[in-house]
Amino acid sequence: MELSRFAKCIIVLVGSNFASGAVHDWGYHHGIDPEHWKNEFATCGGKQQSPIDIKTDNVKFDPRLRKFNFFDLILHRDVKVKIQNNGHTVQVDMEDHTIKVTGGGLPGTYIVEQFHFHWGSVDTRGSEHEINGKHFAMEMHVVMHSDRFSSVSDAMNRTCGLAVLGFLVDVGRENPYFEKIISHLKEIDHINKTVTLDKFRLASLFPRTDCYYRYYGSLTTPMCYESVIWTIFKEHIYISEKQLNKFRDLGKIPGSEDMINNYRNPQPLNHRVVTTNCIESFSSVCAEGWKTGRKRRRCEDYAKIYLRTILSLSRPIFHRRDDD
Ligand SMILES: [Zn+2]
Repeated sequence: MELSRFAKCIIVLVGSNFASGAVHDWGYHHGIDPEHWKNEFATCGGKQQSPIDIKTDNVKFDPRLRKFNFFDLILHRDVKVKIQNNGHTVQVDMEDHTIKVTGGGLPGTYIVEQFHFHWGSVDTRGSEHEINGKHFAMEMHVVMHSDRFSSVSDAMNRTCGLAVLGFLVDVGRENPYFEKIISHLKEIDHINKTVTLDKFRLASLFPRTDCYYRYYGSLTTPMCYESVIWTIFKEHIYISEKQLNKFRDLGKIPGSEDMINNYRNPQPLNHRVVTTNCIESFSSVCAEGWKTGRKRRRCEDYAKIYLRTILSLSRPIFHRRDDD
């Protein structure tokens, strides 16, 4: 029911990672590396860390995970953005702090603040999340904060203060929408360099977003606060090898070693359950009732029709009794 689903969002996290008196320099290939983050930043050793390896056989179907409402994101066609090299990633900050995302099983409204990337030196690694033990060439994270807080930094140590949309990126055809960012990467070839675009539409980067995985986890960089509602979309983004190489080139510049293979490895799941709204996962519910045969197939057929209907409705009808 709704209360139990979001009960974990009521607890307030208290950060105590500054106990050592100083925040030391973390990195991927210099300073404190990911394997040692937990020694310096206690929360990085927590029990609900990210990223994770999503084992699709263990994912549970949850019909309460409805479609996202990206209407506001689509309406904001010409947002001014600042692209920056922060030494660990390419981060794109939205200058407009009013872009709202709702739906998607989120407990309220979330405001888009920035998006950034994790990538590898070869196509077989780079993403933070894995699917059945498989890495992908890149991962894009859209970072949002709850509208109960004024910014990501205000919300980052509050349970469910943040929601991150994760998109896995594969190598394919050239992506003209990504090119608007990639064509400026050579202008931010050193740490702290920035470039501003007057008109950018984040929604243009999104693939289909109706099918996703959900779990509760953390930031994937120190302080690793366990404040994040994670969404990993099933549909991937495709960019060309040439475009991916422009990101990789940033890591070849002396002193910029962290601008490649800038991902954290999967963390233990520790009793957490990954859920999904994907219709095909409903077949696992039918499989619990019938191993094979006509009844199993009929169950799956009914499930598909039923779920397509409820997912297309604008008002939640499922579990209404729990909501009342
Ligand atoms: Zn990230």
